[in-house]
Amino acid sequence: MDTTGQPCRILSFEDNPADAALMLDALEESNFLFEMSRSERLADGLELLKSSTFDVILLDLSLPDSFGPETFIRVKECAPDIPIVVMTGFDDEELGARLVKMGAQDYMVKGDSEGAMLVRSVRHAIERHRIERELRVAKVAAVEAVKVKTEFLASMSHEIRTPMNSILGMADLLSDSELDEEQRRYVAVFRRAGEALLGLINSILDLSQAEAGSLELEHVVFDSHKLFEDTVELLALPAHKKGLSLVCDMKSDLSRWLVGDATRLRQILINLIGNAIKFTDDGEVVVTVEGGIGEAGVPELQVSISDTGIGIETEKLSLIFERFKQADGSVTQRFGGTGLGLALCAELVKLMQGKLWVTSEPGSGSTFHFTVQVGEEEVDDDGCVPTRVMPGTRVLVAVAGEAERSILFGIAHNAGCDVVDVGLASEAKVKIDEALASGEPFDVILLDCRLPEYGGFRVIKDFKESAVVLERTVMLLTADHRPGDVRECQKYGLRDWLVKPVRVEPVLKVLSSCRAVKDEATPPPPKLETATESGQEVRALRILLADDFADNRDLILAYLRKTPHQVTIAEDGAQALAKFQSDPFDLILMDMQMPVMDGYSATRFIRAWESQHGVGPVRIIALTAHAFKEEVERMLESGCDMHISKPVRKAGLLEVIEAFANESAGGPPPVAMSSEPQEVTEEKTDGASSAASEADRSIYVEIDEDIVELIDQFLANRHADVDRLNEAIESLDYEAIRVLGHNMKGAGRGYGFDGISEIGAQLEIAGKQQQSAEALKCKDQLQDYLDRVVVS
Ligand code: ADP
Repeated sequence: MDTTGQPCRILSFEDNPADAALMLDALEESNFLFEMSRSERLADGLELLKSSTFDVILLDLSLPDSFGPETFIRVKECAPDIPIVVMTGFDDEELGARLVKMGAQDYMVKGDSEGAMLVRSVRHAIERHRIERELRVAKVAAVEAVKVKTEFLASMSHEIRTPMNSILGMADLLSDSELDEEQRRYVAVFRRAGEALLGLINSILDLSQAEAGSLELEHVVFDSHKLFEDTVELLALPAHKKGLSLVCDMKSDLSRWLVGDATRLRQILINLIGNAIKFTDDGEVVVTVEGGIGEAGVPELQVSISDTGIGIETEKLSLIFERFKQADGSVTQRFGGTGLGLALCAELVKLMQGKLWVTSEPGSGSTFHFTVQVGEEEVDDDGCVPTRVMPGTRVLVAVAGEAERSILFGIAHNAGCDVVDVGLASEAKVKIDEALASGEPFDVILLDCRLPEYGGFRVIKDFKESAVVLERTVMLLTADHRPGDVRECQKYGLRDWLVKPVRVEPVLKVLSSCRAVKDEATPPPPKLETATESGQEVRALRILLADDFADNRDLILAYLRKTPHQVTIAEDGAQALAKFQSDPFDLILMDMQMPVMDGYSATRFIRAWESQHGVGPVRIIALTAHAFKEEVERMLESGCDMHISKPVRKAGLLEVIEAFANESAGGPPPVAMSSEPQEVTEEKTDGASSAASEADRSIYVEIDEDIVELIDQFLANRHADVDRLNEAIESLDYEAIRVLGHNMKGAGRGYGFDGISEIGAQLEIAGKQQQSAEALKCKDQLQDYLDRVVVS
């Protein structure tokens, strides 16, 4: 009988009537409420199982149509969820154990089994089956609960992220406005706090997803050299600001092309390198990476991040991998942090079938090690760290940090150079002097600007009369170098400068180019020349124009129509990157705000691609409506050479392009690289207010003859914008309002419609600040403007 008071439904497979009777007697005697059906043959029993429900099966293994374990297998297949008690005439322990392993609830030998035992076995079978069922249900419920929790966390963090983004956006706007010092400090504080909160939310989300098993890893091919060098470079600024040396030591057995989740790998690295920088006050942070074969015989990455920081006490070593646990509350108060980073790293490493552990000595530093399984991609090109043989090139490596020095030594040495290395300014001076005196000066001097004692620039000052030293010196600057440092390098006429942490490829490039100078083996590139209308010789440039907004593209195409330059169009940053990688260009005009991939990322990718392939650099001119100092710095940081403010004016654009064409054709460089906004003088205005009189509300706009044929389309597009605005305002799609405004602002003035630019600027703000009433007002103004504008 089960707990509901219903009789227990038993199906007995038994061909021997005497045995069946005995079993029945035994069950009846024990006051057990049951209903029994009996089948003498296997086939009939299986039919019964299909048509009726049973709570338990009593199974004789020897039936007229089946024998032995096979009988059990057939029944189990047909009724996998009904507990089976095997009844058999053979007293075979081994067989019994096998059957239980295969899923039988019990195994009883006929004759030995008394009635009470049989009843107990049937009851146990039913009870165990019930518990198993409940456990299964509970497990499903638990998994479901974790899923709900993760979904809750995901939606909660999304809900928090949305207003946080508004807060941070407003903080950005505020810091761009006129503020006094104190106000600026307040804004900086809440902006930093907001960013920290956003970081915390992202960590909680990642961690809960990893724990719930819902974090899925990618398996894509990635360039491991680039991943490590990029990540280390990303963290160079905070390290250098603290005066720390940060280096990446890629061992030669590291395969370049691997398969795995590069984004998550970068996340682990950023956490561990970030901690190393955070908990180290002076010395070095060294990231070492090598390829290897793990215990499972699978390729793996073996990474260590060692620092010379405060270290961790032995008893805290395992604690720090737990959530919200920090080794020392007081220390952490000084350094900040949440205690989630290592827990997340441990989860991610586990997902990648690897291990994370730490060794440390308080006061001397820590080393975090991790391994992760990766796939290796067979690629024909260089499998290991690239090396070029430059035998006989004499190189001086004068660098402060020990690890950094030995890495640079290794790169030059592996390239076949004769290398001398020193760690002090005075030693560098002595070595350079000795080499000069011997008549065999160094071919390349890699000189650290922060060389202990008195720094690289002082060393160079002593050789300012020696062209052979200056022309062969490459200054190594820190990521936080002063703006004047580059100028100093130029002032002395140094060969080049590199920003630390130095990457393998640029160092090899420098080594080989110095060698080339020595051999006098670089012929100038052939020039492609064409005459302009004025008869002046101008080099025809291959220009890539990247802008998502058709009106802007058309305008620039119209301006360049009568020039010899060939223009290729890209509609977003990703397209620009792809076109750049497949065709050579002399100049790129890059809009900064584009969908899919913006101009900043596209520029960064282009610069990275160039350095990886040893080409370029191509001149990149940023086009943007923003001219704030920070924006301009951001553009330059991403790799742009200069920027032109929108609206782009014909005279200004042609001036810049022609200057570049002359410059690259060997003429004097008339336009310096500029970090200042290029204010291009206006040729005309739309004269809206002056032309409007009380009687005639028309707005008269005089159009440049170059773009006359574009005007109808431009105005038709603005009429379409009125409809789009209507839709966006109705659906409160503020992002669409902002983008429409932004594009109008950028293009209007360029076509001669200042009024449209002004309305666009207001719309952009309305979109950013989510003000639908303001957006509506702008839409009406636009409609009014379009109704009144008269083109002449
Ligand atoms: P957080 O750094 O945000 O507090 P983590 O989980 O990344 O959280 O680190 C947990 C704790 O481990 C830190 O608070 C610190 O006490 C200790 N720790 C981590 N990395 C280092 C390191 N490189 N040197 C010294 N202590 C460390």
